[in-house]
Amino acid sequence: MSHVVELRSDTFTLPTPQMLDAARAARLGDDVYGEDPTVRELEELSAKLLGKAAGVLMPSGTMANLAALLTHSPRGGKAVVGAESDIYVYEAGGASVFGGLVYEPVPAAADGTLPLAAVADALEVDREDPQFALPAVLCLETPNNRLGGIPLDTGYLAAAGALARAHGVALHLDGARVFNAALALGVPASDIAAPADTVQFCLSKGLSAPIGSMLVGDEESIADARRYRKMLGGGMRQAGMIAACGIVALTGMIDRLADDHAHARRLADGLAGIPGLRLDAEPPRTNMVFFTVDTDRTAHTTDSLIEGARAHGVHLAELGRGRIRAVTHSGVTAADVDRAVTVLADVMATAPGARW
Ligand SMILES: *Cc1c(COP(=O)(O)O)cnc(C)c1O
Repeated sequence: MSHVVELRSDTFTLPTPQMLDAARAARLGDDVYGEDPTVRELEELSAKLLGKAAGVLMPSGTMANLAALLTHSPRGGKAVVGAESDIYVYEAGGASVFGGLVYEPVPAAADGTLPLAAVADALEVDREDPQFALPAVLCLETPNNRLGGIPLDTGYLAAAGALARAHGVALHLDGARVFNAALALGVPASDIAAPADTVQFCLSKGLSAPIGSMLVGDEESIADARRYRKMLGGGMRQAGMIAACGIVALTGMIDRLADDHAHARRLADGLAGIPGLRLDAEPPRTNMVFFTVDTDRTAHTTDSLIEGARAHGVHLAELGRGRIRAVTHSGVTAADVDRAVTVLADVMATAPGARW
């Protein structure tokens, strides 16, 4: 069998040879002392790309989000989050455990937006008794991770930012794949970041760095987040090893995300022709394809399809409620996409559990 076609996530990307060369050559220092020049360079570059004053390197997106929430809300405050968001679903309740924050999940519309009327309700819940009102932080995610990989448009973000400001709360944007969103919308990432107080984005997804996320925002918020990073155990010493890969990610890996988006559309086109699979109605906007097994039309189930595909070297993941997600990235070529389509067609054409 040829190599695995890894479609579970763009987190499976491996560092490029240029990244490994850059890590080897990086100038290093102790970043907890603020003396790693490569980390500082990455932090400045990140802030500039997102149009913010400052940035801080984090070991993960989870820690970046957590540090941002701790920064924006005191204990007892409220984190208004999407009910399907990464922060709410996959981050182990960190803001509640470490920050004493109460999560208020808001159900998303089909396109992944949180209806602003519902957000306003969540922010206003204590208006009758303002003396007990909770301070709050509003968290949005773009593109979403579990609802089609759809980016939030800039008009929606501006309205959400205005709503947050009107309530005196911060807007934190979980922009794990913010450059995919920017590409899909045809705008610079700084336009997406503009209404947000802080933005988190991952170096370790489509940008293919092995480790790391950036948190960007104003000087004061980032100084606070840096203190929380230390508190959470995220102060890393010669982190220039990681930052060097991140610089290559930001200078050399953003433009090629267009290939991933084209490959996602190619995959969706291929899957659309397979009887028994039901694709999301809209063509993919970024690097994710979502589909379900139509159990009225096939004896296959989500599990039998995933297992069948895996036996033939195509890795897929279920993302809740029977939805299967396939994510394209730098480790997936057009030929890999075609192979995945052939394998899935063959699995669907064969009885569940059968071997061929
Ligand atoms: C991956 C992801 C994160 C978390 O990043 P880690 O580095 O895996 O902790 C946060 N938000 C979204 C939307 C993500 O896709």
